[in-house]
Amino acid sequence: MRISVTDRCNIRCFYCMPDEQIRFKPRDEILSHEEIERFVEAILPLGINQFRITGGEPLVRNDLPGLIQRIAALPGVEDLAMTTNGVLLADMAEDLHKAGLQRLNISLDGLQEETFRRITRREGLQKVLKGILAAQQLPFRQIRLNTVAIRGITEAEIIPLGQFAREQELELRFIEFMPLDAEEGWESQQVLDGDEIKRTLESAFGPLVPRSRPNPSQPAVDFEFADGRGRIGFINPITQPFCGECNRLRITAEGQLRNCLFSTEEWDVRELLRNGATEAEIRNRLRECVMHKKAGHGIDSSDFQRPERAMYQIGG
Ligand code: SAM
Ligand code: SF4
Repeated sequence: MRISVTDRCNIRCFYCMPDEQIRFKPRDEILSHEEIERFVEAILPLGINQFRITGGEPLVRNDLPGLIQRIAALPGVEDLAMTTNGVLLADMAEDLHKAGLQRLNISLDGLQEETFRRITRREGLQKVLKGILAAQQLPFRQIRLNTVAIRGITEAEIIPLGQFAREQELELRFIEFMPLDAEEGWESQQVLDGDEIKRTLESAFGPLVPRSRPNPSQPAVDFEFADGRGRIGFINPITQPFCGECNRLRITAEGQLRNCLFSTEEWDVRELLRNGATEAEIRNRLRECVMHKKAGHGIDSSDFQRPERAMYQIGG
């Protein structure tokens, strides 16, 4: 279950948010810490035991370590991870770890200032790099880097990022650019195919060997370099859709359940949480949501309909 804790963010990646005129949800529409905790408690008996905190940018949420602590303390929560842009991470990493956060995905689309500026329309690369360094000093169970692969931007970053991941002993995952940008500028020609990235990395660092897949529902296909230095994964929702295996569920910051990033329907949990519903009623709403999951996202079909919400409003 991916829990979005805010639709706000401190940068403006073009593949996710608009640059201006953003209408963030008013605070009273966003689930409180206590409501999120009650939701998690209610769904744990369904066997949902892996959680990821996301957004918007989770680190801009008020007292995030406090929320992590509440979730981590619930019996049955086996895995607690977070995805962040890393800008505020240097100062918060220790508190997050102490609160019970186990794993961290940090977004890093390139190592050049110009790439960061072009994508995020803000400054901050050095802060992100400091954030990565700070996280590495702590015993997180796993730290991964996420790179959105965009044709015309990412090509020049593939080898430097590969090198960085090898040197820092961090796992690096490339994610194909999906049509979830708020400005609706996505075009299929902008998708940089994971296989092409793999060939570029292999030409620089030697063969990539597939790793075993302990969890068949994971969207990424993971490899390691034959010399044992560095791990690389590919999430290829466009060129190699994995909808048949995907078991990801989402709740938006204002408490709407979604069974797919590309879902055009939502199931309201906030209304239940605010009107004294029982845990069983919350579970039933989630069951209903799962039952309506479609066989595939349909991006390649002629009648594909983009969801009304952009990535920052869903929770990536
Ligand atoms: N703000 C945090 C961050 O950027 O890491 C967490 C939320 S963000 C929506 C989650 C992940 O989705 C990030 O790794 C981001 O790069 C990725 N993402 C955002 N828009 C995307 C898109 N249109 N296609 C593919 N990945 C995207
Ligand atoms: Fe913010 Fe993450 Fe969206 Fe970038 S991808 S604008 S960091 S929420």
